[in-house]
Amino acid sequence: MKLLLISGHGAGDPGAVSGVFQEAVETRRVADAVAQRLKGYCEVTRYPAERNAFDDFRTGRLNKQVPLSSFDYVLEIHFNASAASPKDGKTKGVEIFVPTAATETTAEEGICRAVAAVGLTNRGLKQYNWAVINAAHRAGVRSALLEVCFIDDPDDMLVYTTKFDAVTKAIADAIITQFSLKKEEKPVTYEEFTAFMDRYLANRAKLAPSAWSNEARAWAEKANIVQGGSDGDKKYQSFVTREELVQMLFRTK
Ligand SMILES: [Zn+2]
Repeated sequence: MKLLLISGHGAGDPGAVSGVFQEAVETRRVADAVAQRLKGYCEVTRYPAERNAFDDFRTGRLNKQVPLSSFDYVLEIHFNASAASPKDGKTKGVEIFVPTAATETTAEEGICRAVAAVGLTNRGLKQYNWAVINAAHRAGVRSALLEVCFIDDPDDMLVYTTKFDAVTKAIADAIITQFSLKKEEKPVTYEEFTAFMDRYLANRAKLAPSAWSNEARAWAEKANIVQGGSDGDKKYQSFVTREELVQMLFRTK
């Protein structure tokens, strides 16, 4: 699956601001963490973090910036805001929007439910033609806009800040579950293999020899059969090549 993750606001538009929190900053933090967690499960493209997708939509640049139709899913991240609510011990919660023409919404309800399970009120699925997700829909791509929680609700932000990892894991895991994504096993390249091998051999060479070979080692070293490398290191736990073997045999002549 090719997923486009869009962080709402940015490029001079902070979005909703409450206390130390700026929506444009938090939408990027969430998208970063979700993208990280989805690595290997799907191809994640981040909408350029320095850009504002809504501005790009308004100026006709959205589709030029990222060809929407090349994705299977578009998820836009936002934070909600109402007039600041008092700290009443209740969260205002998470909600997710899909375009009004969207017919299949099980996945989105699942994503919303998963985030709510972390400790936020589930406001559920709503349908509204927000510009960017509707543009994706019109390009034939399934899309949703997630309002993680209310940035100006202290109860919401307490959950969000103290359970940030759980929130982003919930979003990523729900995407994995809802779209039945499987972790792709990337084949090891030859370069990676040789790098692993070099590390493995270097570590083996550092191991101390076993006591059972004490006598044999003392004899071989005294007879100059085993002389060690240029650094004098005998590397007793490392492998021996045929070349080294004949060299050692030759020294017994
Ligand atoms: Zn927003």
